[in-house]
Amino acid sequence: MRRNKPWIGEKNTVYKKVTRGYLRIGLVYPSTYQVSISSLAVNLLYYLLNSFEEVYAERIVFESSPKSIETGSHMREFDALLFSAHFELVYPDILKMIREAGIPLYARDRGNEYPILVVGGPAVSANPEPLADFFDVIVVGEAEPVIPKLVESLLEYHDDKRKLLEELFGEEGFYIPVYGKHVVRKAWVRDLDDAFHPIEEIQNIDVEPIYGRGYMVEVSRGCFRRCRFCLEGHVMLPKRDRSFPKVKRLVEEGLEANSLKRVIFYSLSFFDHRDADRILEYVVEDLGVEASIPSLRPDTLNDYRLELIVRAGQKTLTIAPETLSPRIARVLGKGFTYDYIRELSVKALSMGLKIKYYFIIGVPGEKREDIEAIPRLVNQVVKETGIRASESIRLSVNPLIPKPHTPLQTIGLEDPGILREKMKLIEKGLPKPVAVMDSYPPKWAVIQAAIALADRSISKTLAEWSMLGGGLGAWRRAVKRTNYSLDYVFRSRTPPYPWSHIVVSP
Ligand code: SF4
Repeated sequence: MRRNKPWIGEKNTVYKKVTRGYLRIGLVYPSTYQVSISSLAVNLLYYLLNSFEEVYAERIVFESSPKSIETGSHMREFDALLFSAHFELVYPDILKMIREAGIPLYARDRGNEYPILVVGGPAVSANPEPLADFFDVIVVGEAEPVIPKLVESLLEYHDDKRKLLEELFGEEGFYIPVYGKHVVRKAWVRDLDDAFHPIEEIQNIDVEPIYGRGYMVEVSRGCFRRCRFCLEGHVMLPKRDRSFPKVKRLVEEGLEANSLKRVIFYSLSFFDHRDADRILEYVVEDLGVEASIPSLRPDTLNDYRLELIVRAGQKTLTIAPETLSPRIARVLGKGFTYDYIRELSVKALSMGLKIKYYFIIGVPGEKREDIEAIPRLVNQVVKETGIRASESIRLSVNPLIPKPHTPLQTIGLEDPGILREKMKLIEKGLPKPVAVMDSYPPKWAVIQAAIALADRSISKTLAEWSMLGGGLGAWRRAVKRTNYSLDYVFRSRTPPYPWSHIVVSP
């Protein structure tokens, strides 16, 4: 890979001859080039924006910043910069990219000589306040319904920020922080069949995307299960399916346009799609290509579906039991019996699949025996299958981070010391090297929760943190220097919340 310019081997890049009257948009993804090409959201925004004749959207990633991949244009040369924020911990990187481009960080310090700064993404939509001082426009909800209005308004008023903000204020999905807190209803796609989906996606002969090469296709959006901790399960309602004929057409055209032989299905819970079996059968049996399903619920699986997954060429079954305790399952609103997960795991391993589990710890009411059940399950599964190969089982153990708009938004984060003890207890009990564990560091969980649950008063701390270079040590120093109290992270909370003005119900 050519490290300093990893995009050199890229295909499907959009090039346009920019003339006067064109709207130039910089699509900024605060991560590496490899992560950016693995993101369906980036691909969708890139091709959607470029589908407008009078718009030229170019990408900016870590390695290219502050210049664009396509034409090497500086971030300051664009009429607008659209930031895609996939989760809270990228906020300091966003601020760093803005500052290093020589653009004033605070929206109030930017006049008409600077690009309009827009940000969106699931975490920002749920609680825009932590970024509210820095951005001119925050998109609440889904991109497709807001892009036409944004483009139309930018074409007219990109040189006049005041008029632009007046134009967008009050429209569904647009939060204009300079006007103070105001009620905003999220924008959402009513019918996925009518929504834009890219056919061409960025391919690169030198750089393999995170989930491998494959045409990414979104089969459904939202999830009706409403697990009590799950942000996506609450802010992305209602659950919508793309119809079988539409998925079929996208897959056929997408595989051909990108010269690929593998499909990656995007959804929150694949087998909750009303035609999931038909879609998978079509891809595996009729087209004879591979398929990957990164996300599925354990209780939607059966023998037939497991076989289909194996025939699709998938090597790992990723399941999220979250807990094995019926009591904790009631708190989380999600849970499966110990025996169900054990039987499913034994079956999957016997069929040659590896397993990746996701578990949540730090749930109110949790007892030692609830934690101990996790290594007990893994040991029992290994014993029953006699599996020996290293890393046949991976566990991802994550602290429960209370998220806005979920029923568990009221609780405090568990003390990081206790979380660490619980993680150690799990790790100590695992049969290594057959089973290995990745844990989400409790100190990072504190930072993520601090941002997710914050109001606008966190701005100074975020700016300082980014200035100090991000990272744990820098966070500690930034909190101290700005005299920012983290008490709210660990306490229970009552309404109004910092995000109470954001309406996420459809
Ligand atoms: S955890 Fe999974 S099943 Fe539950 S609401 Fe979220 S996406 Fe749906």
